[in-house]
Amino acid sequence: MQDIITNWSGPIVYIGFGSIARGLHPLLERHVKFDSTKVFIVEPRQDVDFPASVPSANIINQKLSRNNFRSVLDTILQTSQEQTLIINLSVDVSSIDIIEYAHQNKALYIDTVVEPWHGYYSDANIDIPKRTNYFLREQLLETKRRLGSGVTAVACCGANPGMVSWFVKQALLNLAKDSGLEVEKPQNRTGWAELMHKLEVKGIHIAELDSQISSITKQADEFVNTWSVDGIVSEAAYQPAELGWGTHEKALPKIGHEHAEGCRAAIYLDTLGGETKVRSWVPTGPQEAFLVTHNEAISIPDYFSLRDSNGKVISRPTCHYAYRPSADTIISMQEMFDQGYQHPKSRIMTPEEIVSGSDDLGVLLYGHKKNAYWFGSMLSTAEAKTLVPNQTATVLQVSSSVLAGIIWMINNPNMGIVETEEMDFEFCLNIQRQYLGNVTGMYTDWKPVDSEKAGGNYEWQFTDILIQE
Ligand code: NAD
Repeated sequence: MQDIITNWSGPIVYIGFGSIARGLHPLLERHVKFDSTKVFIVEPRQDVDFPASVPSANIINQKLSRNNFRSVLDTILQTSQEQTLIINLSVDVSSIDIIEYAHQNKALYIDTVVEPWHGYYSDANIDIPKRTNYFLREQLLETKRRLGSGVTAVACCGANPGMVSWFVKQALLNLAKDSGLEVEKPQNRTGWAELMHKLEVKGIHIAELDSQISSITKQADEFVNTWSVDGIVSEAAYQPAELGWGTHEKALPKIGHEHAEGCRAAIYLDTLGGETKVRSWVPTGPQEAFLVTHNEAISIPDYFSLRDSNGKVISRPTCHYAYRPSADTIISMQEMFDQGYQHPKSRIMTPEEIVSGSDDLGVLLYGHKKNAYWFGSMLSTAEAKTLVPNQTATVLQVSSSVLAGIIWMINNPNMGIVETEEMDFEFCLNIQRQYLGNVTGMYTDWKPVDSEKAGGNYEWQFTDILIQE
């Protein structure tokens, strides 16, 4: 496949240089022509493997905060008359504040989550509904309305949130074709919502199995993950479980709550993601997984909501993450809960230590005439390492999504704030497909209840999917 190459002449600023940024940089070097002397990295840790090509004077060992972010970024942006590209791959740095800053300074901006400032998720003074991704996304939408048009800022463009929204569109087109429907590719949001409705898709799992195994034995006081430990601890242990709430659902779960304001596409539960289990399916078979909150569980059902002429929602899929993390991560999470949230040490598995396994990440569209359809990326450790040196399967799925988002943004620099559902999914998947291993679609007759109970006109209710212990 021909590599897509694009040019970028201005400064590039990384905020945070953790596992994803380290995976992204070699991809950027491959696909974007830029000047390494204009790359700046704002990263508080010093024990990081920074790229040798980036001048050491450009490494800024500082923690961004509400109070210093403007002055720190000003010193970088003022080095050049050219447009800057800001890549925010940090934790604990407010996406919204940096997006506003980028807008004011006409810099392009991309991130992979809507992140608040440090301490937000654990602040007991902040009500649970305000700790949700629903609330954080509503703030993003409010900022989008307020700032209006202008320089592009791509929000939440990792694997999930991010790539999976492009998978949903591809999966709908595949399902339509396999169902014998002759449909044109929809050209706008309403067209996509109509297609979802026409195909009678009741719900979507972002269904992932991470089976990566490390050669290093996990210690009892250690939290091990295949991506940010801070990231998973926030979303699985401090934020409530959340899901997009479909119009076919008959009753809220007893532990479920609607939101009083905003798009109202999602609900939150009384339980944390790390203790909320669901039944789901990936190509290796049925699995129990965690319903960890994620932005795409809200942005996807909101985007695919079909409305009548009065704006009333007439059809919307249920949507949530069904995440089976690596075995070491599941044990880490359990131990952290057992030990009162303590995890003295943390470790992100490196490409060198991962010896086997894969990351199977896709979207499971269920409840339609063909029952259920998984479409996604099955990327093995071995293949990830051959595709790009020093990559893990998880990091490559995420970093290639960021790469696709950056190239799309360079080609579409004046779109204002965009969510990944609003981007050209074919353009993005075309760039990243070469990094996703086996990209495949599979039908299954799996249902969350046994076949006797499922007989006849099975209705795919979330209460069957939620495992209530
Ligand atoms: P990581 O923990 O490896 O790296 C985060 C980096 O941010 C660290 O190096 C840390 O020192 C730095 N940092 C912390 N506080 C900072 C501050 N105040 N200012 C500047 N830098 C700061 O995380 P990662 O695995 O590289 O993930 C990066 C981000 O991407 C996280 O927010 C994570 O949740 C997100 N993520 C998204 C997806 C997706 O698919 N959408 C997948 C994986 C990770």
